[in-house]
Amino acid sequence: MEIEGVRPVAEILRKAGRVAVLTGAGISSESGVPTFRGKDGLWRQFRAEDLATPEAFRRDPKLVWEWYDWRRGLIANVEPNPAHKTLAKWEKIFPEFILITQNVDGLHARAGSRHILELHGNIWKVRCLKEDAITESFDSPLREIPPRCPSCGEIVRPHVVWFGESLDPDVLERAFASCSRCEVMLVIGTSAYVQPAASLPLYASEAGAVVIEINPDPTPLTSSASHSLKGKAGDILPLIDQFLTGS
Ligand code: NAD
Repeated sequence: MEIEGVRPVAEILRKAGRVAVLTGAGISSESGVPTFRGKDGLWRQFRAEDLATPEAFRRDPKLVWEWYDWRRGLIANVEPNPAHKTLAKWEKIFPEFILITQNVDGLHARAGSRHILELHGNIWKVRCLKEDAITESFDSPLREIPPRCPSCGEIVRPHVVWFGESLDPDVLERAFASCSRCEVMLVIGTSAYVQPAASLPLYASEAGAVVIEINPDPTPLTSSASHSLKGKAGDILPLIDQFLTGS
């Protein structure tokens, strides 16, 4: 398969020591996880404000948890795709490699990535409403809805960032710090609408990084990116890898 611009991007990466990557829902779409804004996007079937806000959870925790239980079941039954796997491989190749993701699905970790900044949390973690303690929870389906804290019995919530909530300041600071240091930033499968994640590539660019976007569709970032590779991440990343590592 020939995709225009792949070889020059591989050359840029070959010379890079510090690489940052921002991923969005698009990277998991080839695994079968719906994006939010695509044609089969999650918000076409559900209203975000009914399900992914603190108000919605206060109003009807059972409804919100039923939706998360459905999403967890869907994700539990899919596998990381070649795009996730290529990024996991590159973590071992580049001297500095940081993976910043907006995804909550945990597929990067399942593919083997270890240096991950999860901007929007993780669907496989829950947070106690009383003690704020965060625990992993892999039950799918959940044993009770809403699920309860194993230590105090209070209801737990998904450890994800909802509409109207702030990101973990420590995670965000580390993400911006990585973007200010990187020589190359790859932006993969994000519509670049959700802030503050969408600012990260602009921040990297202002700090002198080469910004490379991989997405089948144009985004608000496309015109300012140094390189824009049009296509699916699961096709393009393994192709870049062939030029980069010869394997
Ligand atoms: P988005 O749904 O707004 O945009 C997805 C983008 O991916 C689009 O620009 C689309 O053109 C692109 N895309 C689709 N298929 C692709 C492919 N095969 N390869 C490369 N790109 C592809 O997603 P977003 O920008 O991440 O922002 C939405 C929010 O949705 C984030 O906060 C995220 O937490 C949340 N979300 C996460 C998941 C997940 O964890 N898998 C799924 C849905 C939504």
